[in-house]
Amino acid sequence: MPRGREFILMLEEVNKTFEGFKAISNLTFYMDEGELRVIIGPNGAGKSTMLDLITGRTKPDSGRIEFGLDTDLTKLSEPAITRLGIGRKFQTPSVYIDHTVFENIWLSLEGSRSVWQTLFSRVTPEQRARIDDILKTVSLDGKAHTLAGALSHGQKQWLEIGMLLAQNAKLLLVDEPAAGMTDEETHKTGELLLSLEGKHSIVVIEHDMTFVRQIARRITVLHQGTVLCEGSVDQVQNDERVQEVYLGRKRREKC
Ligand code: ADP
Ligand code: MG
Repeated sequence: MPRGREFILMLEEVNKTFEGFKAISNLTFYMDEGELRVIIGPNGAGKSTMLDLITGRTKPDSGRIEFGLDTDLTKLSEPAITRLGIGRKFQTPSVYIDHTVFENIWLSLEGSRSVWQTLFSRVTPEQRARIDDILKTVSLDGKAHTLAGALSHGQKQWLEIGMLLAQNAKLLLVDEPAAGMTDEETHKTGELLLSLEGKHSIVVIEHDMTFVRQIARRITVLHQGTVLCEGSVDQVQNDERVQEVYLGRKRREKC
């Protein structure tokens, strides 16, 4: 076990079966603090289930899932895991469409109260500065007073990433951000994620290989609920097992 390094996230020998179907099988995964990690894998490989297990939406049948030095996530509820600083962005954006972009970030600020309480209180200068900063980071500084419902699909996704930043998420879990985006939005999303690298630890699940090439450092390939291969874009694309899984090639030597 590679102890002695500081992992932000560690999964060891995790298993999860749904009604007899093994969705996650002896999954072991380590991630360094500040790392931007891309996870790819065919449909049904268990990518979203892996995120469900990290965020506490699903509990494993066996195995360890730890955050930071030694916080055991398998013992915590979903809200408790969110409060620890693990933020998830689902494929479909979930923003408050009837509120402005500014208000959406405000409502997500750490320590904010209910929607009603927040909107009837005043924004402190500190909060305003923080919100402005986040809006710049996600390229929505010109849209602060636009209703979230009027944003493009890509802009809604950036707003949601901004909301995770407002929640002070240390670990961001981003499931297929490029789905439904234009090429330009996809590229901008890549730049946004790269700009967060180092300050946050980020797991990105993605299919779009142009996007993966843009942002990828280390890639993990999931297949049948377990890690098939890990490495750089080139290592992964040249791996015959990966080619076989994606292209159905005949199995040859293992890498
Ligand atoms: P991916 O995100 O890689 O496409 P998923 O993690 O969504 O894959 O799904 C992996 C497998 O687990 C699929 O066969 C899916 O049907 C199954 N699965 C996921 N969640 C559940 C659930 N809550 N109940 C039953 N089966 C599930
Ligand atoms: Mg999925």
